[in-house]
Amino acid sequence: MKYPVKIRSIGHVTHDVLRIRVDKPEELVYVPGQATEIFIDREGWLEEGRPFTFTSLPDDDYLEFTIKTYPERNGVTAQLLQLQAGDGLLLNDVFGEITYKGEGTFIAGGAGLTPFLAILRQLEKEHHIENNRLLFANKRKADIIHEEELRRLLGANFVNILSDETLPGYEHGYISGALLRRMISDSNSYIYLCGPPPMMDAVERELQVLKTDPGRIVKEGF
Ligand SMILES: Cc1cc2nc3c(=O)[nH]c(=O)nc-3n(C[C@H](O)[C@H](O)[C@H](O)COP(=O)(O)OP(=O)(O)OC[C@H]3O[C@@H](n4cnc5c(N)ncnc54)[C@H](O)[C@@H]3O)c2cc1C
Repeated sequence: MKYPVKIRSIGHVTHDVLRIRVDKPEELVYVPGQATEIFIDREGWLEEGRPFTFTSLPDDDYLEFTIKTYPERNGVTAQLLQLQAGDGLLLNDVFGEITYKGEGTFIAGGAGLTPFLAILRQLEKEHHIENNRLLFANKRKADIIHEEELRRLLGANFVNILSDETLPGYEHGYISGALLRRMISDSNSYIYLCGPPPMMDAVERELQVLKTDPGRIVKEGF
């Protein structure tokens, strides 16, 4: 563990997702889409590192994490719910497979949004959002992380898919081949994929059927 940091602020952005901002160690360098391992600086938790993605931008003077919590598992994210400003975390090296390679379609399930949130925020900052599109799969509207911000960033290129709720303006069900065919217009663009493994497997199967070039798929399982 390399970097001891203090929590600057901690609070909910949805019913089960926390936004945690911590001091940024000067030597820590990352690009949007990358992650680190977080440990809680408390007895009993020092061996329990879990991977989380930076949702701050490299130029910010803090680090931000956007973390879905699982209180029922008694793991690290349940412990994070007990923390407050001033408490300590330990961060490890930076790693991660997802970085921006060019315009395309981002496909996220739940907390799989986080690398894309960082990338899209960076693109907005550089005025390069262009025709990037986000397909965001969740159970219910209340689970959508930063819905307003993403709508502002992407407009009509922000498409929500809800499996457990039917609402006007929101696709219903799971990400299907038919939806992907409708949403991916340019076969030369990139497909960015991040979410829980069953969702990733299902989407990858559909992409295979659509004969998507595997070299154009940028992915990471959560
Ligand atoms: C590169 C990478 C980046 C990531 N970035 C983020 C991010 O930015 N934000 C985010 O929210 N998540 C992110 N994740 C996912 C995140 O790491 C996990 O959600 C986190 O590790 C969960 O930790 P936990 O200790 O709370 O639970 P776990 O370690 O998953 O579980 C604790 C215990 O609960 C039990 N358990 C495990 N799974 C289940 C289950 N499905 N049902 C019931 N019990 C179970 C097991 O006994 C386990 O030991 C990322 C993952 C990767 C690989």
